[in-house]
Amino acid sequence: MEDHTPIEQQLDQIQREDKNRPCKEILVLGAGMAGLAAGYELAQLGHQVKIIEASGRLGGRVWTHRFENGQYGELGAMRIPGSHDYTRHYVSQLKLRLRSFINFNPKTYRDFEGTLCRAEDAPKEIGSLFNLSGDDRKAIQSDDCKAIQSSDGLDAIYLRIIKIVLSNLEDSEKSQLFGHGPFSDRLTRLDRQSLLHTLRQYAETADAVRLMGKATVLDDYWQRSTLLFIREEIDKAFTDLEEIEGGMGCLPEKLADASLPDGTTLRDHIAFSQEVYSIAQGSEGITVAFKENGKLDSVTSPYVLCTIPFSVLRRIKLQGLCGSKRIQDAIQGLGYQSATKVLVNCKQRFWESKEEIYGGASLSDSIARMTFYPSDNAEKKDQSISEKPGVLLGSYTWGATARRLGVLSQEARGQLVIEQIKRFHPDIKDYLDLDQPYVSMAWDQNRYAAGAFSSSYPQDLQMFFPGASQPAGRLFFAGEHLSPYPTWIQGGLWSALQAVMQIVVAC
Ligand SMILES: Cc1cc2nc3c(=O)[nH]c(=O)nc-3n(C[C@H](O)[C@H](O)[C@H](O)COP(=O)(O)OP(=O)(O)OC[C@H]3O[C@@H](n4cnc5c(N)ncnc54)[C@H](O)[C@@H]3O)c2cc1C
Repeated sequence: MEDHTPIEQQLDQIQREDKNRPCKEILVLGAGMAGLAAGYELAQLGHQVKIIEASGRLGGRVWTHRFENGQYGELGAMRIPGSHDYTRHYVSQLKLRLRSFINFNPKTYRDFEGTLCRAEDAPKEIGSLFNLSGDDRKAIQSDDCKAIQSSDGLDAIYLRIIKIVLSNLEDSEKSQLFGHGPFSDRLTRLDRQSLLHTLRQYAETADAVRLMGKATVLDDYWQRSTLLFIREEIDKAFTDLEEIEGGMGCLPEKLADASLPDGTTLRDHIAFSQEVYSIAQGSEGITVAFKENGKLDSVTSPYVLCTIPFSVLRRIKLQGLCGSKRIQDAIQGLGYQSATKVLVNCKQRFWESKEEIYGGASLSDSIARMTFYPSDNAEKKDQSISEKPGVLLGSYTWGATARRLGVLSQEARGQLVIEQIKRFHPDIKDYLDLDQPYVSMAWDQNRYAAGAFSSSYPQDLQMFFPGASQPAGRLFFAGEHLSPYPTWIQGGLWSALQAVMQIVVAC
C-alpha cells in the first residue's frame, strides 16, 4: 500500500511539526479508541486535553464483557490483522500480549440448506447441493485452501472474483483507495457497483452467487460498494489475525492508565456520563453542551475534536460548520452496518473436551450465522482447561439478520441462538451457566453507537470521505468512519493521528 504512512513515520512527522508551536487547549468528544489515542498523543506533546464521554465506560466499540465467573467474551472488536500497524503499535507500547485468533478450523461445522457437516467435508457435502460450473466445482474442491488451513474452500469462487477485479487495477489505483481521492474512472465505476452486482457480473451460475453469500456470510453486505471488499483484500484484513490476551478491552484501559509528562494519566482527564447534545462554533470558540444525570451544562474550548460516530452525530445539533456542506452530507448519508453479537456462557468447554474444536467458527444459514469458539486454548489444547468454563460467541450477525435478531429481548435472542446452535451441538443446554447464560449487544440499539460500523453504499466513498475528514474551522473529526480502514480499530487510530496532525498545524 504505497499511500499508507506507517505509524512511526506519522508520529515522527507530528512531533516535528509540533516543535516550537504554542500549547493548545483541546476538548475531545468520545473516549473510544480514536478519542483516547488522539488525547494521549496530544497530551504527550504537552497540549491540554479534556475528554467528554457519554457512557460510564472507556473503549466505545471495543467492549470485553466479563461474566461473574471470571470468563469473558467480546461484544465488539475481537481480532487484529497482521497488517494493522496502528493497532499493533499501541498493543506493543502498552506491553499487551497477543496470541493467534483462529478464524478457520476444519473441525467446526457448516450447516447450509439443511445439510450439516464438518468444515473439512463442506466442499463435497455442501458444494454438491449447488448448481456450479465445472471450474467452480474444481475451485472449491482444490487443495489450496486446505493446504494453508485458511478456509473450508467454499469461499474459493468469491476469492477468485475479487482477485480478478483486483488484477485489473493499476498499482496507482490501489493506492488511491487509501488516499483522499480523486478516483480513476475505473475505480469510480467500481464504487458505483454493489458487491452483488460485481459478483453476478463474473459468476457463472446463479447458484454460485447463492453459495458465495452463504459461505462468506457476505450476503448481508450485498448492497455495499464493491470497493470496500477490494480494499480489504489489498489490506490483507483477514490474514495473520491475533487477539489480546485477557481481552480486547485491555487496550483502551491500559491506554487510559499510561503516564503523561505531567505525572497524570489520561483517565484523570476524562469526564464520564456527559452526553453531548449540541456543538456550536462561534467567534469565542466552540461551545459543547452536554447532559450529565439529566442536568444541562456546557463547556467552551478553542479546539474540539469530535470522535462521535456520524450515526450518533445525526441527532446532535451542529452549528458553525464553516459552510462545510460535505460534512453535513456525510453525517446524513454515510451508510452504517448493523451487527449483533450473542455471548453464551458455558460451565464447561464441551466443544473442546467432547468435539476437539479449538477456535474457529461454525457457519450456518440460520439466524445465528456465525458461532465462534475461543482461541485461547488452541495452542496448548490443555484438557484441564477444556473441563473448565468458557464463553462461546454463540452468534455474530451483520445486516438484516443482525436487525432481525436485534429486535428481540436479550432473553429471547439468547434462547433463539441456543435453538439454532443445537443443530450442531445438540447437548448445549446441559452446559449453560444458568446464573447468567447469555449476554448480547445489538449495536443498532446502542445509544452511543447507533450502528456497528460505517459501511459505504455505492458512491459513498467518493462522495463523503474526502470532505468529511477535513476540519470545519477549529472543529476536527476522527473515528473509524473517517478512514480507509472502516470497521477496524486501525481506522479509529489512523484517523485520530490524522486529526492530531491537523490540530498541531492549525492556527
Ligand atoms: C460487532 C463489532 C465487531 C468488530 N470487530 C472488530 C475486530 O474484530 N477488529 C477490529 O479492529 N475492529 C473491530 N470492530 C470495529 C472497532 O471496534 C471500531 O472501528 C473502533 O473501536 C471505533 O473506534 P472509534 O473511536 O472510531 O469509535 P467508538 O469506539 O464508537 O468511540 C466513540 C465514543 O464516543 C462516545 N459517544 C457517542 N455519543 C456521544 C455523545 N453524544 N457524547 C459524548 N460521547 C459520545 C461513545 O460512547 C464512544 O465511547 C468491531 C466493531 C463492532 C461493533
